[in-house]
Amino acid sequence: MRIETLAVHAGHEIDTATGAVAAPIHLSTTFERDAEGGYPHGYIYGRSANPNRQALEQGLAALEGGEEAFAFGSGVAASSAILQALAPGDHVVAPTDVYHGMTKLLREVYMRWGLEVSFVDMTNLDSVRGAVDPKTKLIWTETPSNPLLKITNIAAVAEIAHAAGAICACDNTWAPIVQRPLDLGLDFVMHSTTKYLGGHSDVTGGALVAKTKTDCAERVREIQTTCGGVPSPFDCWLILRGMRSLPWRMRAHSENALKVATWLADHQRVERVHYPGLASHAGHEIARQQMSDFSGMLSFEVGGGKEAAGGGAAKTKLFLRATSPGGVGRFIEHPAPIKSEKTPAPPRML
Ligand SMILES: *Cc1c(COP(=O)(O)O)cnc(C)c1O
Repeated sequence: MRIETLAVHAGHEIDTATGAVAAPIHLSTTFERDAEGGYPHGYIYGRSANPNRQALEQGLAALEGGEEAFAFGSGVAASSAILQALAPGDHVVAPTDVYHGMTKLLREVYMRWGLEVSFVDMTNLDSVRGAVDPKTKLIWTETPSNPLLKITNIAAVAEIAHAAGAICACDNTWAPIVQRPLDLGLDFVMHSTTKYLGGHSDVTGGALVAKTKTDCAERVREIQTTCGGVPSPFDCWLILRGMRSLPWRMRAHSENALKVATWLADHQRVERVHYPGLASHAGHEIARQQMSDFSGMLSFEVGGGKEAAGGGAAKTKLFLRATSPGGVGRFIEHPAPIKSEKTPAPPRML
């Protein structure tokens, strides 16, 4: 089945009670027992399972090609669950330019709870190999990265992880549909469904998708329901609705971004464009091998420094000055004045 068709059908069933073609939203937090005390429909309580969440999880598993998916109330709640599935003393390898919320999660929460973390340049496989030790249980990747759109060879990193007896996960938020990490040998995919999957900048959510039903996946399910970072039924409904048009939107995002990147690359006042779809990008060859298209995010550096970059963002007409990718609108951000000192974004970058 083509991915476009799959996206329309995955997680969708006609409501047997009414014939409704759009799923009803089940707000009920609790479900009736039968006379023997059992639950004939399989649902017990909203935190442990809900029909809308189950439908979303079926859709997520189908689109990423995994056996099981777990929906959360945000992307960082999903990332948090996989870290909670580890034990104190376990070692994690993560990229130096990982999403800033993940850096915060690792440094300010999980290192305090006894996880050991090494931050490495994931585009350098020797650095990754050098960081792995017998306690390594997870290698976390994110590609293309934010804000430099660096490309990690995820199949090669997964091989390093597996040789060390660790699992390998990929934050695939920036490249759904066009990059399928589970097909490339990874064990987990994470999404901030707030971005492309929801697709309309109107719902916050996150997800993990497991390639197979392992003990670790089982542990993630326990954490989801025990720690309770679950999304609301309406949020699940909105995200699944967004996913129905995702393959077509990704095609449009990729086509538009390539046109903008090509135009910028030729512009007199632009010094560098970071977009993996351009042949001049350092990760272009690997991106071509592991992505079917290059998605909708790019960054660029303008001549004239920080002021010129800020001025550029201030003058745009169709682009809104806002953070967070993946909606149907066009956003632009000048990271230097708003991100911490530690941002890898040069001051002249947009
Ligand atoms: C937004 C984002 C996250 C975090 O997701 P939230 O839904 O905001 O918690 C993680 N990774 C990447 C790459 C993101 O863009």
